Amino acid sequence: MSDCLFCRIVAKEIPARIVFEDESILAFDDIRPQAPTHTLIIPKAHYASLNEVPAEQADLLARILLRAREIAAAKGIGTSGYRIVLNTARDSGQEVFHLHFHVLGGRRMAWPPG
Ligand code: AMP
Ligand code: ZN
Repeated sequence: MSDCLFCRIVAKEIPARIVFEDESILAFDDIRPQAPTHTLIIPKAHYASLNEVPAEQADLLARILLRAREIAAAKGIGTSGYRIVLNTARDSGQEVFHLHFHVLGGRRMAWPPG
Protein backbone atom coordinates (compact mmCIF):
# COMPACT_ATOMS: atom_id res chain seq x y z
CA MET A 1 0.00 0.00 0.00
CA SER A 2 2.56 2.57 -1.17
CA ASP A 3 -0.15 5.24 -1.35
CA CYS A 4 -1.07 4.80 2.32
CA LEU A 5 0.42 7.43 4.64
CA PHE A 6 0.81 5.11 7.61
CA CYS A 7 2.25 2.27 5.49
CA ARG A 8 4.84 4.80 4.36
CA ILE A 9 5.62 5.62 8.00
CA VAL A 10 5.99 1.87 8.66
CA ALA A 11 8.40 1.71 5.69
CA LYS A 12 10.31 4.71 7.13
CA GLU A 13 9.65 6.63 3.90
CA ILE A 14 8.03 9.39 5.96
CA PRO A 15 9.57 10.45 9.28
CA ALA A 16 7.70 10.12 12.55
CA ARG A 17 8.54 10.39 16.21
CA ILE A 18 8.49 6.68 16.97
CA VAL A 19 7.59 5.70 20.51
CA PHE A 20 7.52 1.90 20.17
CA GLU A 21 8.16 -0.68 17.49
CA ASP A 22 8.12 -4.46 17.29
CA GLU A 23 7.56 -6.92 14.46
CA SER A 24 3.83 -6.20 14.15
CA ILE A 25 3.11 -2.86 15.87
CA LEU A 26 4.35 0.72 15.48
CA ALA A 27 3.56 3.66 17.78
CA PHE A 28 4.39 7.27 16.99
CA ASP A 29 3.33 10.70 18.18
CA ASP A 30 0.48 12.40 16.33
CA ILE A 31 1.66 15.24 14.10
CA ARG A 32 -1.24 17.47 15.25
CA PRO A 33 -1.55 16.62 18.95
CA GLN A 34 -4.96 17.20 20.52
CA ALA A 35 -3.63 16.77 24.07
CA PRO A 36 -0.21 16.96 25.79
CA THR A 37 0.14 13.24 25.06
CA HIS A 38 -1.23 12.10 21.70
CA THR A 39 0.28 8.91 20.34
CA LEU A 40 -0.99 6.69 17.54
CA ILE A 41 -0.61 2.91 17.64
CA ILE A 42 -0.96 0.97 14.39
CA PRO A 43 -0.54 -2.57 13.15
CA LYS A 44 2.25 -2.71 10.57
CA ALA A 45 -0.09 -4.70 8.35
CA HIS A 46 -2.53 -2.57 6.39
CA TYR A 47 -6.19 -2.70 7.48
CA ALA A 48 -8.25 0.26 6.31
CA SER A 49 -10.24 0.29 9.54
CA LEU A 50 -11.43 -1.94 12.37
CA ASN A 51 -14.10 -3.19 9.97
CA GLU A 52 -11.45 -4.87 7.81
CA VAL A 53 -9.65 -6.76 10.59
CA PRO A 54 -10.38 -10.50 10.43
CA ALA A 55 -11.49 -12.15 13.66
CA GLU A 56 -8.33 -14.29 13.49
CA GLN A 57 -6.38 -11.11 14.25
CA ALA A 58 -8.03 -10.68 17.66
CA ASP A 59 -4.65 -11.20 19.30
CA LEU A 60 -3.17 -8.28 17.35
CA LEU A 61 -5.98 -6.00 18.57
CA ALA A 62 -5.44 -7.15 22.14
CA ARG A 63 -1.70 -6.53 21.91
CA ILE A 64 -2.30 -3.01 20.59
CA LEU A 65 -4.58 -2.28 23.56
CA LEU A 66 -2.04 -3.60 26.04
CA ARG A 67 0.65 -1.57 24.29
CA ALA A 68 -1.56 1.53 24.67
CA ARG A 69 -1.59 0.88 28.41
CA GLU A 70 2.21 0.55 28.45
CA ILE A 71 2.70 3.74 26.45
CA ALA A 72 0.31 5.65 28.72
CA ALA A 73 2.31 4.48 31.72
CA ALA A 74 5.62 5.36 30.05
CA LYS A 75 4.31 8.84 29.17
CA GLY A 76 3.31 9.37 32.80
CA ILE A 77 -0.47 9.39 32.30
CA GLY A 78 -1.26 5.83 33.31
CA THR A 79 -2.68 6.87 36.67
CA SER A 80 -3.94 10.39 35.90
CA GLY A 81 -5.91 8.93 33.00
CA TYR A 82 -6.03 8.62 29.27
CA ARG A 83 -8.47 8.01 26.46
CA ILE A 84 -8.10 5.47 23.66
CA VAL A 85 -9.95 6.48 20.49
CA LEU A 86 -10.56 4.25 17.50
CA ASN A 87 -12.36 6.18 14.77
CA THR A 88 -14.06 3.90 12.26
CA ALA A 89 -15.56 5.06 8.93
CA ARG A 90 -17.30 8.25 7.90
CA ASP A 91 -19.37 9.37 10.86
CA SER A 92 -16.49 8.89 13.31
CA GLY A 93 -14.34 11.40 11.44
CA GLN A 94 -11.74 8.81 10.39
CA GLU A 95 -9.30 10.57 8.04
CA VAL A 96 -6.45 8.09 7.61
CA PHE A 97 -7.62 4.71 6.35
CA HIS A 98 -4.97 2.56 8.03
CA LEU A 99 -6.20 1.25 11.38
CA HIS A 100 -4.88 3.36 14.26
CA PHE A 101 -5.64 3.77 17.93
CA HIS A 102 -5.23 7.23 19.45
CA VAL A 103 -3.86 7.44 23.01
CA LEU A 104 -4.69 10.84 24.46
CA GLY A 105 -3.97 12.26 27.88
CA GLY A 106 -2.30 14.90 30.01
CA ARG A 107 -5.41 17.02 30.29
CA ARG A 108 -8.99 16.58 31.39
CA MET A 109 -11.10 15.04 28.61
CA ALA A 110 -14.65 16.17 27.90
CA TRP A 111 -17.59 13.81 27.69
CA PRO A 112 -19.60 13.36 25.53
CA PRO A 113 -17.03 13.60 22.72
CA GLY A 114 -17.74 16.06 19.94
P1 AMP B 1 -8.27 9.89 12.29
O1 AMP B 1 -9.10 11.13 12.19
O2 AMP B 1 -8.71 8.98 13.42
O3 AMP B 1 -8.15 9.17 10.98
O4 AMP B 1 -6.84 10.38 12.75
C1 AMP B 1 -5.77 10.56 11.88
C2 AMP B 1 -4.66 11.16 12.71
O5 AMP B 1 -3.45 11.04 12.00
C3 AMP B 1 -4.87 12.64 13.02
O6 AMP B 1 -4.88 12.85 14.43
C4 AMP B 1 -3.66 13.31 12.35
O7 AMP B 1 -3.17 14.41 13.07
C5 AMP B 1 -2.67 12.17 12.31
N1 AMP B 1 -1.64 12.28 11.28
C6 AMP B 1 -1.81 12.61 9.98
N2 AMP B 1 -0.63 12.59 9.33
C7 AMP B 1 0.31 12.23 10.25
C8 AMP B 1 1.72 12.05 10.21
N3 AMP B 1 2.42 12.22 9.07
N4 AMP B 1 2.35 11.71 11.36
C9 AMP B 1 1.67 11.55 12.49
N5 AMP B 1 0.33 11.70 12.61
C10 AMP B 1 -0.34 12.05 11.50
ZN1 ZN C 1 -1.55 1.38 5.30
